[in-house]
Amino acid sequence: MSDKAQEGNITTIRSLFFNENGKLCIPCGAFESFKYLKARTMERYGTYKSQPAISNQQNTITAPVMLPPQDLIPGSRTYQKEDPPDVQKLGADSWTFLHAMAAKYPDKPTDVQKQDMSEFLKLFSHVYPCHWCATDFEKYIREYSPRVESKEELSRWMCEAHNKVNVKLGKPKFDCNFWKQRWHDGWDENQ
Ligand SMILES: Cc1cc2nc3c(=O)[nH]c(=O)nc-3n(C[C@H](O)[C@H](O)[C@H](O)COP(=O)(O)OP(=O)(O)OC[C@H]3O[C@@H](n4cnc5c(N)ncnc54)[C@H](O)[C@@H]3O)c2cc1C
Repeated sequence: MSDKAQEGNITTIRSLFFNENGKLCIPCGAFESFKYLKARTMERYGTYKSQPAISNQQNTITAPVMLPPQDLIPGSRTYQKEDPPDVQKLGADSWTFLHAMAAKYPDKPTDVQKQDMSEFLKLFSHVYPCHWCATDFEKYIREYSPRVESKEELSRWMCEAHNKVNVKLGKPKFDCNFWKQRWHDGWDENQ
């Protein structure tokens, strides 16, 4: 690939990862692309720093899907016939959302942001579409109020809430000291 084409590629990918304030936003793009961007930037400049957003472009890159017509929703060329989410899929996707939301929470939230987050979690626990999961999560929130003082506090609270469910389901606990690598920064090669 020519230098110019490569630079264009990096620029396009970079624009997917920074919000309108030029802040890094990993959940805005595909993590593989983020790793590619980081590696290419390190290779070229020997360092990796946040760059201002190039545009407000959304993550619209899609690979062509080549599926037999019987696997697709009638009339669609891309949407696969998928089943409704079960407790596992719903759970994994919801935890992804909850941890990513906590990782994106401000380090120093305003009073309004703190109140919004507390209320959101309470409402989330009321409407979560698996009723026994919702009942236990509601109870957990009543016993252990969400810690909304900072990103670190909220992310650790979320990790502990998730661990409560892990234990209930007989799964191992996740080491909450690694919340940041899992949900914010990604892992170094040697971790
Ligand atoms: C609020 C809520 C309540 C739930 N209650 C129930 C229930 O009562 N009964 C039930 O059967 N299922 C429940 N679930 C679903 C359940 O927690 C799992 O999501 C589901 O079993 C799928 O598990 P998984 O192995 O895919 O990984 P998940 O537990 O979904 O975890 C996804 C990923 O998160 C990371 N992770 C794991 N633990 C932590 C942690 N503590 N902190 C940070 N990251 C972590 C890991 O990388 C893991 O691969 C609930 C889900 C939610 C969101």
